[in-house]
Amino acid sequence: MTSIESSNHKKAKALKPGSVRPAKELCSECGLCDTYYIHYVKEACAFITQKIDQLETTTHNRPRNLEDENELYFGVHQEMMSARKLQPIEGAQWTGIVSSIAIEMLNRGLVEGVVCVQNTKEDRFQPMPIIARTTEEILAAKVNKPTLSPNLSVLEQIEESGMKRLLVIGVGCQIQALRAIEKKLGLEKLYVLGTPCVDNVTRAGLQKFLETTSRSPATVVSYEFMQDFRVHFKHEDGSEETVPFFGLKTNILKDIFAPSCMSCFDYVNSLADIVVGYMGAPFPWQWILVRNDTGQEMLELVKDQLETQPVMFQGDRKPAVQQGIEAYDKAVTLPMWVAKLMGVVIDKIGPKGLEYGRFSIDSHFARNYLYVKRNHPEKLEAHLPEFARRIVGQYNLPE
Ligand code: FAD
Ligand code: SF4
Ligand code: SF4
Repeated sequence: MTSIESSNHKKAKALKPGSVRPAKELCSECGLCDTYYIHYVKEACAFITQKIDQLETTTHNRPRNLEDENELYFGVHQEMMSARKLQPIEGAQWTGIVSSIAIEMLNRGLVEGVVCVQNTKEDRFQPMPIIARTTEEILAAKVNKPTLSPNLSVLEQIEESGMKRLLVIGVGCQIQALRAIEKKLGLEKLYVLGTPCVDNVTRAGLQKFLETTSRSPATVVSYEFMQDFRVHFKHEDGSEETVPFFGLKTNILKDIFAPSCMSCFDYVNSLADIVVGYMGAPFPWQWILVRNDTGQEMLELVKDQLETQPVMFQGDRKPAVQQGIEAYDKAVTLPMWVAKLMGVVIDKIGPKGLEYGRFSIDSHFARNYLYVKRNHPEKLEAHLPEFARRIVGQYNLPE
């Protein structure tokens, strides 16, 4: 990149908060347009130009092998495992593997800063992206802020600070935009630690979800849709509340998910170097996908802090996915006692491990395919990656 090219973007003007973004209603508020890197928005925005396939090859040096079921579903990878920290970080979303990798990278001098997301003082769920430079700042970003988060809004600060080695933690749509402009950041080395992500919401949507689903919305400190087909809420007093998926008020909750997330096919964060989630591991383990050698280097830093086991799978997801597509489309809500019973039965005989991961991907891709087809038919062809086309092609979908 010449210096003229590199300074070109600095002349661009970030958009003001609250103004309409180039991707309009599909914007996931990834933060790029809050910076002068908006200059590249047409090529970088996941909702204007979907190019996961192309970026996978440039990032991992090879395309996803669509003939291999694990790669078709989970993306390019060289290793997969179930894992958990021997000494979990209290208050982390799961056991704190993400925070631990970030801390090791900073403390061992591999990076000078870590892009992560804390919350504002007033609201534990209002995201506040930062560049962390200390262990304390990384730990203050632990636990999900389960809302759209403008993680890339701190990118201008990177160039200004002169930082050359950086770790970015983020979800798929943020990472697609980041990878598209990676070469413009002037870094010597970028490390990317991703989490899977699905069904994200605006702050207002989150409030509606909490009020519709939890017995005590004001005291919820975190929640997760877990592999046992229940939503687990953790409350301030340390108590845990569980609600079966099948008991969710689908008719009310149908509209809370952000349009970006109803159009998203990068559930597994295809462009990160390493991904830490849970959905490919049996409950209550976390799940790690190492995509390339950089991801391997990151994992090695914390291996002695982890207990690991090989990935497994059990059950057959397909009948449950097909029934779920139809029930969701009709917005069926079951009476709570039936929902609880179904939850117990499906937990006993339902999909587990990687098969649960495939269940969740199939269900969400089918729903999102129908959403894009019905609401943005002109975008469908270009917006649907080939892997997603193959996945949804396995099911009978309503018109
Ligand atoms: P911690 O050590 O607690 O660290 C969490 C990290 O997440 C922090 O570094 C923070 O910077 C970052 N973060 C928090 N909120 C956001 C945000 N809104 N955007 C970007 N980064 C954020 N995993 C699955 O397997 N299946 C799913 O369906 C799934 N859905 C998710 C939805 C969302 C919105 C998010 C943020 C994550 C989701 N995950 C999912 C990942 C999972 O919930 C855990 O985050 C992951 O397993 C890491 O847990 P941990 O204890 O290691 O993380
Ligand atoms: Fe801009 Fe990101 Fe919104 Fe796309 S998703 S319009 S890049 S802020
Ligand atoms: Fe971004 Fe997709 Fe997560 Fe929505 S579901 S926040 S679009 S990665």
